[in-house]
Amino acid sequence: MLFSVKKIAPLLGGLLLAGSAQAARLAIVIDDFGYRPQQENLVLQMPNAISVAVLPNAPHAHEMATKAHQRGHEVLIHLPMAPLSKQPLERDTLQPEMSAEEIARIIRNAVNNVPWAVGINNHMGSKMTSSLPGMLKVMQVLDRYNLYFLDSMTIGNSQATRAAAGTRVKVIKRRVFLDDNQNEAEIRKQFNRAVQLAQRNGSAIAIGHPHPTTVRVLQQMLPGLPADVTLVRPSQLLNEPQTDRPAPLPTPPAAKPHNPFRGIGVCRATQPPAPVPATRALMVVAESIQQSPLVQKISNLF
Ligand SMILES: [Zn+2]
Repeated sequence: MLFSVKKIAPLLGGLLLAGSAQAARLAIVIDDFGYRPQQENLVLQMPNAISVAVLPNAPHAHEMATKAHQRGHEVLIHLPMAPLSKQPLERDTLQPEMSAEEIARIIRNAVNNVPWAVGINNHMGSKMTSSLPGMLKVMQVLDRYNLYFLDSMTIGNSQATRAAAGTRVKVIKRRVFLDDNQNEAEIRKQFNRAVQLAQRNGSAIAIGHPHPTTVRVLQQMLPGLPADVTLVRPSQLLNEPQTDRPAPLPTPPAAKPHNPFRGIGVCRATQPPAPVPATRALMVVAESIQQSPLVQKISNLF
């Protein structure tokens, strides 16, 4: 049977379009739940693909986790972990030097206080997540629960992925913080950055906080999400590759730290992610050029 190119081309185009319509998946998690029910209720009125992370020792932790689950939102435990900088800490903040038993006790309490949680992400944690011994203890405990670990990436050299190797714990990574700067225009910019990253890499995870400005921007922007971007829960991205594709996006200027509210430190990045070493890639390229027939022919002439 013969098909003319003219007939097939639009069909192929349609198929490609249908494929790309599911190509970009964006997960948005709102952290620091449990302290301000009024603001948080506004988040729970958003599409239920928006997920929430609840601080286990917050006064409204149990109530907000239950409510979020009832409305169909994915629930995470927002586990406080030690930062490098001096900040007010939540009770039971994980420290690298804590014993495995102490860490197990804290995580057990967190699981009890935040019902319906299917994952954990770190609140602050630049000190804890950059400690391999510390994170090994965390992953050993998480292995006993069926919880994934969303690395908030508050420090470039987080050891979470390394520590989870050899356990059943799946690790995924935050790519964009929506509201390090709580200016609405800045939050819109970060939202668009998350959308672009999802389109470029196939998926992206963005984290925000229940600030009035963040809530307003999400209410404005979510209905206008591009047709090729689908909102998903982090648990739908557990098998996604966690590496970035090479084409760089413009990096926004570093934002000043900003506490969402008194007593709770923000889970922002304290330093940019460590650059990926390029030497190895360059060596491979140089080697393959040396071995190419053309280069060998030329070098034989001399
Ligand atoms: Zn937090």
